Amino acid sequence: MTHHQVNDVKLYVNGTFVSAGNSESFENKNPFTNEITNEVAKGDHTDIDDAVKAADQAFQHGPWGKMKIKERMSYIERIADLIDADVEGIAHLESLDSGLPIQQTRKMIARAAENFRFYSRMVQTRMHGEAYMADADFMNYAVYKPLGAVGLITPWNAPFMLTTWKVAPALATGNTVVLKPAELSPLSANRLAEIVDEAELPEGVFNVVHGYGETAGEALVRHDKVKAISFTGETVTGKTIIKNAADSLKKTSMELGGKSPLIVFDDADMDRALDAAVWGIFSFNGERCTANSRVFLHRNIKDDFIERLKERVGKIKVGDPMDAGTELGPLIDEGHFEKVTSYIETAKKEGCVVVQGEIPNSLKKGNFVPPTLLLDASNDMRVSQDEVFGPVLSVMDFETEEEAIQLANDTKYGLAGYVWTNDVKRAHRVAQAVDAGMLWINAQNVRDLRIPFGGMKASGIGREGGHYAILEFYTEPKAIHVSLADHPIPQFGK
Ligand code: NAD
Repeated sequence: MTHHQVNDVKLYVNGTFVSAGNSESFENKNPFTNEITNEVAKGDHTDIDDAVKAADQAFQHGPWGKMKIKERMSYIERIADLIDADVEGIAHLESLDSGLPIQQTRKMIARAAENFRFYSRMVQTRMHGEAYMADADFMNYAVYKPLGAVGLITPWNAPFMLTTWKVAPALATGNTVVLKPAELSPLSANRLAEIVDEAELPEGVFNVVHGYGETAGEALVRHDKVKAISFTGETVTGKTIIKNAADSLKKTSMELGGKSPLIVFDDADMDRALDAAVWGIFSFNGERCTANSRVFLHRNIKDDFIERLKERVGKIKVGDPMDAGTELGPLIDEGHFEKVTSYIETAKKEGCVVVQGEIPNSLKKGNFVPPTLLLDASNDMRVSQDEVFGPVLSVMDFETEEEAIQLANDTKYGLAGYVWTNDVKRAHRVAQAVDAGMLWINAQNVRDLRIPFGGMKASGIGREGGHYAILEFYTEPKAIHVSLADHPIPQFGK
């Protein structure tokens, strides 16, 4: 089977697909047509409580944490195999649900399978502790233990990829999971529940509660038995989650928004810089956390580069996300369409010259925003400071390296950055100086799963990826101190 029939979506709690306790549901729409695709069970605090209790029970008393590591990893690898066997089907669901072009979701789904394989390898090779001899009479060691039931809260912009990026390390390290997917894109999370069910993971190890952030999401964050929350989403939501997690002293990991700069010096390889700048802002429909939404061009190359940007923007293929040739699809929903469109209006009022690509006439009913250049932008404009999260690029210029760094850093965010130059010293100087969690030199966003992923400033706290996820977030070190001899003990009251 290549395509799945889309049915109404239920919650997955304790190994069973169930309706919400209150029997309520919400409508899920197709961003390409804005027509209703299906109904989704609308979980609330009672469903969260059921799911958390199941996850906690599975952690405390189930076989998941006690089985041999090889056996647990065989489940993790089975999930990867099942994803691999269904890349086309999941990509189809993802594109239908999110409006992301199928040419891009296919790659993301294949990457999602790799997330499970990668963390199976990591847990088997890198989840080691440390041991110290303290003189001859003590040996002290630390080992890493899973936390228990953990809560994962994910956004709609690359749902399956971002979800599996959390689920894989959480499960591989021996935790149990309650996932609260984004309400605007529930289909691939439901497919993941089906896959976990097919892989026959023990009951309660993986649970999915669909529902709204303010109800289901908040209940998960506040639940006493949830040991940690890993969140990806907007900065404002992240702040609320940290506050709500404080009462139960939970660990939190925050992957938040961005307004990432791409700096092009006049000695750069212009063809490659252009390819990267265009792909970085217009792939994923511009709904990419690490998008280079601000481009800074050296004054010597500015005019030429802008001409070439205009030419590209005019040729980007806007269309049905299901067409293999489509490069830019519709935004996730009407609300987001309104938001992005109003930012473009604001840009005009702020003095930008707006240059846009074409939307074919046949596509007027979906949430299509054409690829958009904001020329004559300045870095203090709202459109250069706020995360627009659409196919909208602020284009600015600079004269000196210092000015480029100062402009790049004049933002509350610090997720990613891109620098284009053939001067090796300058490349590293600028990469060091830009305040961002991740910098690429002469490259677009190419991921290495072993390297820390995440941002600084308003873009987040903590890192995902590599051993960071397994040793710094989903586990806790336990220190064991062993006396090897009759070391002295103070004798109070003797
Ligand atoms: P969002 O913050 O609106 O929602 C994300 C998730 O949080 C959803 O599941 C939502 O239901 C839930 N939520 C909302 N309010 C909540 C609350 N009070 N308590 C608990 N959960 C709550 O984000 P979005 O619009 O879905 O996603 C887009 C944002 O995500 C952008 O800002 C983007 O930059 C960011 N993002 C960041 C990264 C990263 O790695 N840094 C990656 C992808 C997306």
